[in-house]
Amino acid sequence: MTSSFSSTEQQKAVRWHPPSYDIRVETVPIPQILSPDDAIVKVKLAALCGSDLHIYRGVGGIEEKVHTCGHEFIGEVVALGSSYGGNASGRPPLYSSLKIGDKVVSPFTVNCGECHVCRLGYTGRCPEGYLFGSPALDGGQAQYIRVPKAGGTLFNLSDSSTWSSSLPKDVKEKALIGLADSSLLILADILPTGVFAALQALNHPKVAPVITGKPWPLCFDRETNAVSGGNEVSFTAEDRVLNVAIIGLGPVGVCTTVSMLDAVATRNIPFRIIAVDPNESRREKMKAVYAAIDAAGKGTGQFAVCDIAESKEKVKEWTSGVGCTAILEVVGNTSALSLAYELVRAFGAIVSVGVHGAPPLPLTGSQLYNKNVSLDFGRCPARAMFPPAFDLLVKRQDVFGGVGETASLIDKIVSFDEAVESYRAFDKGEVGKVVFDPWK
Ligand SMILES: [Zn+2]
Ligand SMILES: [Zn+2]
Repeated sequence: MTSSFSSTEQQKAVRWHPPSYDIRVETVPIPQILSPDDAIVKVKLAALCGSDLHIYRGVGGIEEKVHTCGHEFIGEVVALGSSYGGNASGRPPLYSSLKIGDKVVSPFTVNCGECHVCRLGYTGRCPEGYLFGSPALDGGQAQYIRVPKAGGTLFNLSDSSTWSSSLPKDVKEKALIGLADSSLLILADILPTGVFAALQALNHPKVAPVITGKPWPLCFDRETNAVSGGNEVSFTAEDRVLNVAIIGLGPVGVCTTVSMLDAVATRNIPFRIIAVDPNESRREKMKAVYAAIDAAGKGTGQFAVCDIAESKEKVKEWTSGVGCTAILEVVGNTSALSLAYELVRAFGAIVSVGVHGAPPLPLTGSQLYNKNVSLDFGRCPARAMFPPAFDLLVKRQDVFGGVGETASLIDKIVSFDEAVESYRAFDKGEVGKVVFDPWK
């Protein structure tokens, strides 16, 4: 309830035009409240993401509709629909507590927070959800954005009591004051996605024998779900080593690697991690990031950064030809998936968080059968993953804090004047993560 903009006021926005490779910075109307659950957010920073490139390239299957780009943004609430400001009991707490002026970050999809799917934590697939920056919903590379179902979608960075954390209250509050907006912005997508990929692999049933030190099926033997007797063997030290390959070292791949390193270090899991990318500048970035992480954040396992040919040799050498327990595929194309299949061991898990397009998967049923491979695909439920991602963001400011340094995840913050060139350069792999300041 509250202030809104007149329908004649204009703003600058980065817009996609069909069919492909056509980005324009245009003047368009400031979005209006359309539904009682909407919020209008004044965008402070918006990021360019690898998955924006799928639309940029016009990769099949999307509606050819001009729209505002971008699904990663941070900003300030400037208008709220009529659902807010009262006591919205039974609804997500933000309908009662969100105020004009609050600083917010949004997951990259809308989610209602009130349905079965959202309650289970699968927020990225809420039936009422939309992807920001798609033909269905204008995105955040603009001066203002409309957020539907904002009370179920947004995180209120002005009120740290509105989400849970493993951090002590004072550390959490201090962090919110100290963290740069450019750092908090990665909570919109790439850091939750990295944490999600690592979490899926570490909790995968195929990985359980290595983690628990018990063979299949005793690795599932819990008080509540007892599997009785049999197959008692002693593991060797080598049996307990978690071998992981991460394919793709763009910004999400770096977040995935940092998340995986932190998880195995924190849990004292012996490991070998291999991070793979054909692009040399991405490999150099990954090495600089690894060097910047303190000892507590990277544990005592082995870590290597390789190109594709080297990765096959390294995995052979490290695992005596057996292959990796888990592969985290962070690219989303058929060659990345083929490499994942080649590097995974029998009874291994491939976790893919890359956005795959129309081409059929390059794997046959018999290939999957013959290796007992599990495939785990899909979009991160970013809202559900926000709390652990926030905690990791606070912990890893050595990597996620700066801009433009050797080990920074974000390369630069530019104005919309550089939007067209930034899309081109990012598409060619010539720059890392780029952030737009719509007011610059
Ligand atoms: Zn993204
Ligand atoms: Zn929902």
